Amino acid sequence: MNHFEYRNGVMHCEQVSLEDIAREVGTPVYVYSTATLERHFTVFAGAVSAHPSLKSPKGEAPLVAYAVKTNSNLAVLRTLAAQGAGADTVSEGEIRKALKAGVPANKIVFSGVGKTDEEMAFALKAGIYQINVESPPELERLARVAATLNMIAPVVIRINPGVGAGGHAKITTGGAKDKFGVSAEEALRLYAEASAHRHIAPMGIACHIGSQITDLTPMQAAFSRMRGWVEDLRANGLSVERLDLGGGLGVPYFNQKEPPAPADYAEMVALTVGDLGVRYTFEPGRAITANAGVLLSRVIHIHERADSGQKFLVLDAGMNDLIRPALYDAYHDIRPVHAGDPADTTVYDVVGPVCETGDTFTRGREMPACREGDVVAFMTAGAYGAVMGSEYNSRPLAPEVLVRDADWSVVRPRPSYEQMMAAEPLPDWFSPRAVSA
Ligand SMILES: *Cc1c(COP(=O)(O)O)cnc(C)c1O
Repeated sequence: MNHFEYRNGVMHCEQVSLEDIAREVGTPVYVYSTATLERHFTVFAGAVSAHPSLKSPKGEAPLVAYAVKTNSNLAVLRTLAAQGAGADTVSEGEIRKALKAGVPANKIVFSGVGKTDEEMAFALKAGIYQINVESPPELERLARVAATLNMIAPVVIRINPGVGAGGHAKITTGGAKDKFGVSAEEALRLYAEASAHRHIAPMGIACHIGSQITDLTPMQAAFSRMRGWVEDLRANGLSVERLDLGGGLGVPYFNQKEPPAPADYAEMVALTVGDLGVRYTFEPGRAITANAGVLLSRVIHIHERADSGQKFLVLDAGMNDLIRPALYDAYHDIRPVHAGDPADTTVYDVVGPVCETGDTFTRGREMPACREGDVVAFMTAGAYGAVMGSEYNSRPLAPEVLVRDADWSVVRPRPSYEQMMAAEPLPDWFSPRAVSA
């Protein structure tokens, strides 16, 4: 469910007309709904918190650590933090943003295959909940960093369960040959090694098998292996207090297939790994933010090719603003902000202005007929959208707007061309004369 709906023929985000935002802020622009963010978070957190078998021995509800990489705008993070969200982070920058947005340090998880010494030290000093260790050299470095700071690092070991899943090969992470985590045998060895170390406190194990997963079967297979490994560790006399099950729950990008609801996911988790006497962690990202955002873009013109008969709908948004179709062959529903006659459709190749053929959002799609100057909305663009934006082709980063009821606010302005150029100082060997315009 989301809060983007037509009212009197114009798409609104909550109470705000998207036509108004497009006119006042300009296009391309990302627009997020507070109500949808809050709803998605509370539905997910409510589902996993509802199961008595997913409570910790101390009676704590699971930690729901929102995956910051999907949408790291500070206002989005602040909105989720106010709902009680923790943060799953993958860099010092994300930890800093989560802290700044009001996520308590003891709800922050630090994941990723390549954390630097500086990042580890920052995380330890901030007092975060746990560091998810993904390899033997990483554990070794973390032990050294923690020893230097005379601190004890709370650690879970990320296991690659050998069950990959996800909407595309590039976002499948749990396959045995993927770069994430260690094998179960190696995890058991590392865990024992970590227990003997004065500056490491191994707390449990973690997995995250992929993203945009629309079927519970692979998750269930991975989680039931995780259960076995918790039992193996305990059988070896090691204490296991935490189990982190990652994110990955998919969202509907188009009307055909409904992914599992959070309640069904929670039910499966409770049946598969419930009652282990651990504190559970979940790291949902896309499921929280994807349908909470749209990218608005204006039709620059329609180029009808005489030879092929193709109609290119040329937009002012490009792959630098929304790279998912180019990178993952992702499908985004594209809807006109002004609903026309639903029977009036045309087949378009929808493209951006960037100078490569990869800058094609879709080919041969039948959709409502558009005219020059119309505004269209890329639906389900709140996750892995703005965060993956770049200035390729020297195009300013698309701004971001957060809506709340009838209010809205620009939460990241579009940089001016002066600001873009000020970020690239020239070396002083160019004399002022040589660079004068
Ligand atoms: C990307 C990622 C997530 C979030 O995945 P979604 O599919 O967006 O829910 C969670 N945990 C880890 C370790 C990740 O890398």
